[in-house]
Amino acid sequence: MTEKQEARPQQEILTIRDFKGFFHNHILWPEPYPEGSNSPTDDGVHSIEELTKLFAKNGYRYFGISPHNYPTPKDVKRLRAEVTKINEQDLGIHLFLGIEANITHQGELAFPPEILRPLDYIIGSLHFWDGRQQNRQESTKAVVEAIKSGWVDIAGHLSHATYAFGVRREPMDIDFETVCQVAKEKEVVVEISLKRFAIPQMAAIERQRQLLIAQAIEHQLLVTFDYDLHTIKGDFQRDRLPRQVSTFVNFGGKKENVLNTWPIKKIHSWLEFRKSQR
Ligand SMILES: [Zn+2]
Ligand SMILES: [Zn+2]
Repeated sequence: MTEKQEARPQQEILTIRDFKGFFHNHILWPEPYPEGSNSPTDDGVHSIEELTKLFAKNGYRYFGISPHNYPTPKDVKRLRAEVTKINEQDLGIHLFLGIEANITHQGELAFPPEILRPLDYIIGSLHFWDGRQQNRQESTKAVVEAIKSGWVDIAGHLSHATYAFGVRREPMDIDFETVCQVAKEKEVVVEISLKRFAIPQMAAIERQRQLLIAQAIEHQLLVTFDYDLHTIKGDFQRDRLPRQVSTFVNFGGKKENVLNTWPIKKIHSWLEFRKSQR
């Protein structure tokens, strides 16, 4: 061993014990919803309090909820009040308020600034809610445009696409190299999805995740590993975290580039900085 090699500090290897929190989680909300309104806001099955307590009990330090929809700015205020109330309970975990905003076929986020601005973070994900598929070029362009808009903090589940309100899932046909280049320029975090679907296409989705992990490492992007949690039993307990972490480590991924391992103080400053840039 040369002197130079000896002097180099050993790089810390990422393990699942390094994880301090998650950002992509769905809730049962609203409950109850104001009289006369039938707009769905999210499709999780657990209350915010139930999820927060579960993650606190498992030793996590922060937890973010990311509903699909806020029909009006008043709904953001309402949920913010609930989040503040939970944070005041001193559960040993900090709760963040985000959104999983849909990226439209045209590459826009489906929400106006008055909804997005007060949120702690914005996950932008491409879904084909209308069931219309895009080709590789269209999907790449849509995600690139959304990232360039400056609103997206985390690019959600680039490895798979969801069709027609969750009816169908397919591997996403998208140019990871181009998307990762733009994510690097805009300092956007790329999500490695931990979601598992009991569908024949799951093997192809896993292959896409591996390609995404490789590209994210090559571009030295910040990444987040996230459950996209809708149900505890289906998403959190059938845990894909060890598998994706070992892929990340085997491909040469560095712990410092994993957002979920950052201490809460660093997460706060990162989010404050992103917010100031909106
Ligand atoms: Zn989604
Ligand atoms: Zn989601």
